[in-house]
Amino acid sequence: MGILAGVDLGGTNIEAALLSEQGKVMSHITHPTGADEGYGRVMENIISAVKKIKKDKEIEAIGLCSPGIIDVDQGICRFAGNLNFNNVQLRRPIEDAFSVPVFVENDVNAAALGEWRFGTGKGTDNFILVMLGTGVGAGIITDGRLLHGKSNATAEIGHTIVEKDGLFCNCGGRGCLEMYSSATGIVRMMKQYLMKGNYSSVTADIQGDWDRLTAAMIAQKAAAGDKLSQQVIREAAEYLGVALVNYVNTFNPEMVAIGGGVAKAGDILTQPVKEFISSRAMEVQANDVSVVLSSLGEDAGTIGAAAVAIESIKTVKDL
Ligand SMILES: [Zn+2]
Repeated sequence: MGILAGVDLGGTNIEAALLSEQGKVMSHITHPTGADEGYGRVMENIISAVKKIKKDKEIEAIGLCSPGIIDVDQGICRFAGNLNFNNVQLRRPIEDAFSVPVFVENDVNAAALGEWRFGTGKGTDNFILVMLGTGVGAGIITDGRLLHGKSNATAEIGHTIVEKDGLFCNCGGRGCLEMYSSATGIVRMMKQYLMKGNYSSVTADIQGDWDRLTAAMIAQKAAAGDKLSQQVIREAAEYLGVALVNYVNTFNPEMVAIGGGVAKAGDILTQPVKEFISSRAMEVQANDVSVVLSSLGEDAGTIGAAAVAIESIKTVKDL
C-alpha cells in the first residue's frame, strides 16, 4: 500500500494529512471548512486541502471522516447538524477530482479505528473508544470489526440513559449520559453547585461572568486540588461509569480508551471510571477490561480517516 490522504472534516476546520500505511503523518495542513457558505463550498475546500497537501505525489486512496450520520456504502452524509448537511454526497466529488478510491466514515468511528489500528488499542480485538467533548460519542470494535448497524448509527453512548427521569436531552430522551459527562454537562453541574453557594476557586477566574466557565477550567482546577471541581469531575466520571458498565457487560471489550477535550482531566477522570467498572460490572468482563486514555492526540482525526481507507482496502482485498 502506498501513501494515503486522511481528511478530518470538522464544523470549523478541515484537517488534511498525508500518511504512510503505518499511520505515520508525513505532512499536515489546516483549511477553513466554510460551512456557512454551503455544501458546494465545503466540498471545494476539501478538494483544495487535499491538492495542497498532495502536491505532485501519488496517493493510493483518500479517507474522509465527517460528523453526523454517514452512509458508508453510498458515501453520503445523511445528516450533520453543525455542517447543515442533509443527504449530501461526500465521496463522489472527491473521487472525481482525484481518480482514486475514497472511503467515508463517521468521525468518532474513524477515531476508534485509528486508535485501534495505530494507537493505544493496537493488538486488541475488542476495543471501545469514548470521546468526551461538547457531546459524547463512541466507536466499538468487536471481534476485530467496527460495528456499523443498519444506518451506521451504533454506539451513541452519549444517549445511553443513566438517569431514568433525568434531564431532558436534545435527542428527545431524558437522563442521557451526554447531559452529565460532556463538557457542557460538567459546566452545568458546576454552575448548579455555585448557585447553591458552594465554594470553588473557579469563581475568582471567571469574575462573575459564568459564560466564561469551561470544562477545561474545571479540570485544571480539579488537578490543582480545588475540592468542588474534583467532586464535579468525579460525578461526571461516575455517570460515564454507569454507561460503561452496560457497554462492558454487553460487548466484553479488552480495552476502553477515553479521548476528547474532557479526557485532558486525566487520572481524576479515569480513576472513578475504573473503580465503578471494577465494582459494578460482571466479574469476567470487569477483569478483562482496562480503562486508559486515548493516545493519538491532535492527529487522531486524520489518522482515523486514513485508517478507514486502510481498513476498507483490506476488506475489499479479503473478499
Ligand atoms: Zn439524548
